[in-house]
Amino acid sequence: MNEAPVQRPPGASGEIAFHDACTQCGDCARACPEEIIMRDKEGLPVLSFANGECTFCNACIDACEPGALNAELPWLWRAQVANTCLSDQGVHCRTCQDFCDARAIGFQLKPGGLADMSLDRDSCTGCGACIAPCPVGAITLVQIKPETEARPC
Ligand code: SF4
Ligand code: SF4
Ligand code: SF4
Repeated sequence: MNEAPVQRPPGASGEIAFHDACTQCGDCARACPEEIIMRDKEGLPVLSFANGECTFCNACIDACEPGALNAELPWLWRAQVANTCLSDQGVHCRTCQDFCDARAIGFQLKPGGLADMSLDRDSCTGCGACIAPCPVGAITLVQIKPETEARPC
C-alpha cells in the first residue's frame, strides 16, 4: 500500500530528492513565523496545520542554506472535505468559510435553512487555514497533479 504524501514546507521537491538535500538543521522551522513546521519521526520538516496556516511568505525557503527548498516549485496541495462535514449531516456550520481568505468555500442554500458546502479547487490556495477551525476535522490537504497546476496560486 502506498503511503500518503507528506506535507513538506513549500519548495520541497519529491521525497527522495528532499531526503537527500535536507540536512535536518531545523532552520526552516525556526524561520517560520506561523510556527507550522514540525519534525517527522525521521527528523525531517513536515507541516502541521493544527495551529496555523501557511502564508506562503517563503521565510522557510530563504532560511534553507542547503537549498532543499526551492521557490520555483509550485505548492501542489489543495483542501478536500470529507463527508463528515456537518453541513452534510444536516447541521448548520459555516466555520471554515470564515477562515478562507481566498473565498474558495461556498454554501448553497437548500430547503429547511440548511446549506450544502462547496469548495472551489481553482480558488483554493492550499493555505490550510480552514483545517484547524473545522469542529469535526473534516478538512485535509491533498496533493494535486502538477499538470493540473495551470496557473499560479
Ligand atoms: S512559507 Fe512561511 S508560513 Fe509557510 S511554512 Fe514557510 S515560513 Fe511557514
Ligand atoms: S467547518 Fe467543517 S463541518 Fe463546518 S462546514 Fe466547514 S468542513 Fe463542514
Ligand atoms: S486551504 Fe485555504 S484557500 Fe483552501 S479552502 Fe482552506 S482556507 Fe480556503
